[in-house]
Amino acid sequence: MMADRDPVQPLHEPALPVLDEEAVWVHDAAERFEDANAEELLAWAIETFHPKLAISAAGGVDGMVLIDMAAKISSDIRVFTLDTGRLPPETYQLFEEIRERYGIRVEFEQPDGEAVSELVTEHGPNLMYTSLDLRLACCNIRKVEPLKRKLATLDAWIAGLRREQWKSRRNIAKVELDRDHGGIVKLNPLADWALDAVWAYVREHDVPYHELFDHGYTSIGCAPCTRAVLPGESERAGRWWWEQDTDKECGIHCSVGLLGSKTDSERAAAPSVTDLVAVEASEIATPLARDDEPEEVEA
Ligand code: SF4
Repeated sequence: MMADRDPVQPLHEPALPVLDEEAVWVHDAAERFEDANAEELLAWAIETFHPKLAISAAGGVDGMVLIDMAAKISSDIRVFTLDTGRLPPETYQLFEEIRERYGIRVEFEQPDGEAVSELVTEHGPNLMYTSLDLRLACCNIRKVEPLKRKLATLDAWIAGLRREQWKSRRNIAKVELDRDHGGIVKLNPLADWALDAVWAYVREHDVPYHELFDHGYTSIGCAPCTRAVLPGESERAGRWWWEQDTDKECGIHCSVGLLGSKTDSERAAAPSVTDLVAVEASEIATPLARDDEPEEVEA
């Protein structure tokens, strides 16, 4: 009862506090559901966490499959999306179809208006093409922070990630402890699905899907940062396509830099080849004392 609540404690207390035994609980659940089908995992998640459980949907076909499956298990599921302000019009049309087909009122999470205003006033509306740091700043304000605010109200969330999508997703478990978001549970029921299987489900169950998939897109994101892919390109090649050697992540599903790629400022701060050659030359001229050995420079 609210009257018994300690007033200094936050209103929302995750059902699963971040304790080692909770990590073990999640690990056991991941093992138990690794070979289960997606519907079994969804049914368990709904029974365990509803109403503090929601599906994250951004217009991708994976999210639509999850919505269709979950809606067949319960008429009361929750779906949220990060409305970055830069989504293509077809994404809004898809959310209208979700509303009409499943009767789900998608929860739209908005970025902080003042932060967006300051960013685009300072750097322009298309700052994402200027540098990786600015692109990440935009993703942070429009996606990462709104997601944090949303997940602070939930005990578990469901994402449409699949292991084959991208190198940063190869090791995802079907049930994870999301330490980046207060230790709530993250579920990836389609982790072991192939793209062909996702589309087969869509066709078999007549699931609504994003119109841009009919125009060469294989992944859906913000309009300025997503393009159709060319034959032979990977599924996520159309995301931030102008960037080379980056994680192609925005920070909502894994920390950017997880794969070892560096931001612009980190690249600028790193010693250049010329600097390293100069250091080596000076070491030859003046050998360092043992306590003064240079730190290793990451590749
Ligand atoms: Fe900004 Fe592009 Fe990131 Fe969307 S995907 S938040 S427009 S940088």
